[in-house]
Amino acid sequence: MTAPGENAYLPGFFSRTIPLATLFGIKLRISISILALFAALAIHAAYTSFSAGRGGIFEHMALLLLVLALFVCMFLHELGHALLAALRGFRPHMIALSFVGMTSFERKDARPADEWLIAMGGPLVNLLLGAGILSFVHAPDSGHVIDGWYVPTHTTPVGLAWWIGAANLAIAVFNMLPLFPLDGSRVALGMLSGMFARRQAMRAVLIWSIVCGAGIVIAVAGMLFTGGFEANALHIVLLVLAWVTMSASVRAFAAMRVDGHSA
Ligand SMILES: [Zn+2]
Repeated sequence: MTAPGENAYLPGFFSRTIPLATLFGIKLRISISILALFAALAIHAAYTSFSAGRGGIFEHMALLLLVLALFVCMFLHELGHALLAALRGFRPHMIALSFVGMTSFERKDARPADEWLIAMGGPLVNLLLGAGILSFVHAPDSGHVIDGWYVPTHTTPVGLAWWIGAANLAIAVFNMLPLFPLDGSRVALGMLSGMFARRQAMRAVLIWSIVCGAGIVIAVAGMLFTGGFEANALHIVLLVLAWVTMSASVRAFAAMRVDGHSA
């Protein structure tokens, strides 16, 4: 059971998943596309270590290890949602893992407080993982400068551990942005649902997300204009975020309208 329009953005990410296991009664599913990414990285690692011959095997496998580790962290993030859902009395029944994760549970009779607590369960796991790892591991001295930013290497055990810690902190912060469909928007939705009707709260979150998405596009255009049209990684990340939040919000809006008419 989901509220009108809430999961309308999901099919694109999770249309092709295969069953992986069942854990405490929770069905685990994994998408074919993420398996294909793992396979491509494994083949690349095998090819470069075989053909180049230089550097240790770890150096060639580091990227694959980093992606696998972040995949495990994403799974733990979803377990955080599932655990909070179970603690609030809602039975989680499926976790699907793709480039993003999704936990589904029976949300009939969910109250606003349940919603925002369950939404915070995931980012909280990444925050604990990131803070935990970075309190033991410091950024390695080796690395390079890209666009004026010092980027530590990930091809040593310490560098890899640092990247996993830093990525978890980044994922926690990113997920708490109040933009649909990120967890932060679920927290906002839960809190607003306590004050307004559910439909009104949903509409406010979706309009806010679309306006912010448009604002991000205008800001990136401004940065490109003043910076001589040299795009960097930050611009691309911001544009992807704008596209994800705007397209998901528009789809959720459309689904809300359909539900509204048929109701
Ligand atoms: Zn989450």
